[in-house]
Amino acid sequence: MSDYGDRHAVIIGGGIAGLAAAWRLQAQRAAEGADYRITLVEASDRLGGKLYTERCDGLTIESGPDSFLSYKPAAIQLARELGIEDRIIGTRDTGDGTFILRDGRLEPLPEGITMLVPTKLKPLAKSRLLSLRGKARMAAEYLVPAREDDDDESIGSFISRRLGREAFEHMAQPLLSGIFAGDADQLSLAATFPRLRDIERKHGGLVRGMLNQRREARSGNNAAPQSSYPPFVSFAGGMGELTDSLVERLGNVDLRTGAAVERIEQAESGYRLQLAGGEFLEADAVLLATPAYVAADLLELLDGEISAMLRRIPYVSTATISLAFRASDVQGLQAGRGFVIPHVENRELTAVTWASNKFDGRAPGGTALLRTFVGRAGREGAVDLPDDQLLTIVRRELQQILGIETAPIVSRIQRWRRAMPQYVVGHVDRLEQVDQRMQRLRGLALLGAAYRGVGIPDCIESGNRAAESAHQYLHRNVT
Ligand SMILES: Cc1cc2nc3c(=O)[nH]c(=O)nc-3n(C[C@H](O)[C@H](O)[C@H](O)COP(=O)(O)OP(=O)(O)OC[C@H]3O[C@@H](n4cnc5c(N)ncnc54)[C@H](O)[C@@H]3O)c2cc1C
Repeated sequence: MSDYGDRHAVIIGGGIAGLAAAWRLQAQRAAEGADYRITLVEASDRLGGKLYTERCDGLTIESGPDSFLSYKPAAIQLARELGIEDRIIGTRDTGDGTFILRDGRLEPLPEGITMLVPTKLKPLAKSRLLSLRGKARMAAEYLVPAREDDDDESIGSFISRRLGREAFEHMAQPLLSGIFAGDADQLSLAATFPRLRDIERKHGGLVRGMLNQRREARSGNNAAPQSSYPPFVSFAGGMGELTDSLVERLGNVDLRTGAAVERIEQAESGYRLQLAGGEFLEADAVLLATPAYVAADLLELLDGEISAMLRRIPYVSTATISLAFRASDVQGLQAGRGFVIPHVENRELTAVTWASNKFDGRAPGGTALLRTFVGRAGREGAVDLPDDQLLTIVRRELQQILGIETAPIVSRIQRWRRAMPQYVVGHVDRLEQVDQRMQRLRGLALLGAAYRGVGIPDCIESGNRAAESAHQYLHRNVT
């Protein structure tokens, strides 16, 4: 039994970050015989947040994320703890990888582009993705001096400065947009790709840095951590397996859906949470696993300055439109996993994934499943169009790019409003200030995609960290 009696941890938000935090708290409480209660409150009627797998007509439709990076260990570790590691699958080896639209044509991303940086000259030289001038400018990266000062800059400015504007607009920007749905001229280098900045500082340039790192890895020094998995992995039944399994195994957590928290105020000891409908919950530790703008509203009464800083994290709305076709109707499709579309191509579509090419088991034989995306920073209007208009636009652009004339046999639209946090220039400094002020609010933690990584392993890691500090606080009274 713990010395602290019946204390209470409340997690607000049942996305992957909140669920992972609940799992970690439950495990630590059991391991150390603590006796605090754990409640997770989720505003919607479904747990999982952005992870949402729908199964219909033999299709596995991912409305949110369809995969995660294996080299960041938190997600695989969680799958291991849940007993579902054997369900992890890698991307299919389709031979071809990713394509990028250039002047209306799909061009393969040249082999050897690692973290936006070219590491092989031949494939780049042969590629039709960039003009001769653009390639020459990229090759000249070797000669560009390193920036000396420490100020944050946008990833757009960094890539343009090092590799040239053409490489930025036609290669880096669409690849980045696929991750953040953002405007790379606004996104912070320090917050999104700190390794690129480190490489420039340490080696004087990107190509130089990549070549040095490869040399060091070959000689056994500084070898990158190896994972036995392919870089992108998912689960045999889709990403929903992860959240379904978490929910199933959170037997000692009070999971409440349809329960939106509306305000948090200081109580005599700890905090009082008001739910929609007027119910109150008393809590000693509160883990805020909501989008930053929700956390900002909830923290308003406790610290208006934190709220103001959190409101400065902008969000972008997107929509995922999944379309299944008879395979015979889309025979002209190129192999590969899909393509991304640069902003300069001036399309509503931002990316298309060949879901049934990317992972096994996503569509029955004879059916091709495509995931298409619209909505990005500066161009979110299409997300709010009625279904029929949105479908018309997507089908028109697919017809123009891929020549698909026939109607899909299944279509699903998922709108994600204010879904993608944007780590704009200054994000890292702002988080430091938030962290400093948060120290005054004992037992309170911020977690999830808004802060230090939008990827699923990052969100899980943020849940783990928040759970560990809440456990220390509740069980050992350590802040
Ligand atoms: C279309 C799309 C594709 C993506 N693809 C990938 C990918 O392939 N790989 C990858 O690694 N990442 C991907 N991401 C990013 C990743 O999915 C997200 O960053 C991550 O799932 C966010 O998890 P989270 O728990 O922080 O937030 P969320 O999933 O947003 O969960 C927050 C929860 O808080 C709840 N909530 C809000 N307000 C309240 C309140 N007042 N009271 C109670 N509950 C509340 C919400 O209902 C929600 O369930 C993608 C994201 C999107 C939108």
